[in-house]
Amino acid sequence: MKAALLKAFGEPLALEEVREPVPGAGQILLQVNACGVCHSDLHIARGEWERFKNLMSLPVILGHEVAGRVVAVGPEVEELCEGDAVGVAWFCYTCGRCPYCRRDLEVFCENSEITGVTVNGGFGEYMLAWASHAVRIPRELSLVQAAPLFCAGGTVYSALRKVKLDNSSHLAVWGTGGLGQFAVQLGKLAGSRVTAVDTVDAKLALAREFGADDVVPAGEAETWFEDFERQADVALVCANSAQAYHGAFRSLRKTGVLLVVGLPSDPLTWTAADFVRSGVRIVPSRVVTRQELRELLSLAARSTLRSRVERLPLEEINNALERLHEGTIAGRAVIDFAV
Ligand SMILES: [Zn+2]
Ligand SMILES: [Zn+2]
Repeated sequence: MKAALLKAFGEPLALEEVREPVPGAGQILLQVNACGVCHSDLHIARGEWERFKNLMSLPVILGHEVAGRVVAVGPEVEELCEGDAVGVAWFCYTCGRCPYCRRDLEVFCENSEITGVTVNGGFGEYMLAWASHAVRIPRELSLVQAAPLFCAGGTVYSALRKVKLDNSSHLAVWGTGGLGQFAVQLGKLAGSRVTAVDTVDAKLALAREFGADDVVPAGEAETWFEDFERQADVALVCANSAQAYHGAFRSLRKTGVLLVVGLPSDPLTWTAADFVRSGVRIVPSRVVTRQELRELLSLAARSTLRSRVERLPLEEINNALERLHEGTIAGRAVIDFAV
């Protein structure tokens, strides 16, 4: 099968023929139809996340926003059969036994496997997955549309689920790329007022297209949010920028909530007095659980929730990563194996 391999950190991915894997107990073999290209793939490929380097044994096939069809099942698989459409997210295995799994906090599992990090991911024609962690895709959704829900959509869904948005809330979305586009739509579906902030005009235009009530260039945000009537109850930061976090903090009304999703490597610096004076609560959110994915997929199947998608063949993967780095992709780049 054809796959894009990370053979050395900081090097472009190598397109090679590799052997098709065989599913073990509890596993399925997926024919990958679509796999979204996430900022995390870029950080990992460039070797920017030290902790992950130690978890990985190269070569590895990256890609953790996977949608495909089951083409073979291993022993002891009862829940899925050939032909089923399923997707796989960042955590493709959690143990169900550790203290976190037992407390229903599977995203903190101590024995997890990570798609495209500790095991091969979706930038290849076939991929192994654990049947227990493959989530069914409703037939109303195309696999290309479903793929971005497994990381980009799921991550913001999980974050926004930690606050109660309704028609009296004002949500500020900082960074309206692959993740932020979903945050804008989820905010509007909840009936909230949504303000989008970004440095890139094309991303602001996308936010407007998806229903943002106001779009604000990042350079003008400080003055824009000065007025109490314009301040947000919830600020969700999808951008990988410490500056965005500091701006987002200032965009909030007193007692607002800052949702932490984007992962800049620079430290964020607030004093205890900043928190005490503002009453702002910091709420971090880590990817998405299987239950949240089921909810989100079902919501997408019966609503207008969609990703702006740029479909690319696997051969274009390095180009996609480069453009992600430059910030010139509006929406999500998705490797489509049918292109
Ligand atoms: Zn991701
Ligand atoms: Zn566990």
